Amino acid sequence: MSDNSTYEGQCFCGAVQLTVTGKPQAMGYCHCESCRHWSAGPVNAFTLWSPESVQIHKGYEHLSSYQKTVQSIRKWCALCGGHILTEHPEMGLTDVYAAIIPQLDFQPSVHVHYQETGRFLKLSATRLMKRL
Ligand SMILES: [Zn+2]
Ligand SMILES: [Zn+2]
Repeated sequence: MSDNSTYEGQCFCGAVQLTVTGKPQAMGYCHCESCRHWSAGPVNAFTLWSPESVQIHKGYEHLSSYQKTVQSIRKWCALCGGHILTEHPEMGLTDVYAAIIPQLDFQPSVHVHYQETGRFLKLSATRLMKRL
């Protein structure tokens, strides 16, 4: 049975709006150095979707992108600087940041790249076990 649930998301100023449809293929937290440095935040809460599940329906012209590595094309709103998504072409998945789709029931099941976590976020082993 296919899941046609839709979730609305938008950038910080609202100029860029998107809809995601269905179910994410994975949800979790990324502790990698790239996510941290790009976002200036300690951790990235991600939701991974197949690219065809993600539709930018307003403000596409305001979308800017930056590709530092072959794995990731990071996109944000050029008007407000709000981060929106990261495309992972090699994985065939798009990360729509959990923070911009508030209606989605965020159910994190993994912490990835935890070995790269910075000095900002040290989860104790016990707390990690409870989380997973
Ligand atoms: Zn914006
Ligand atoms: Zn990352």
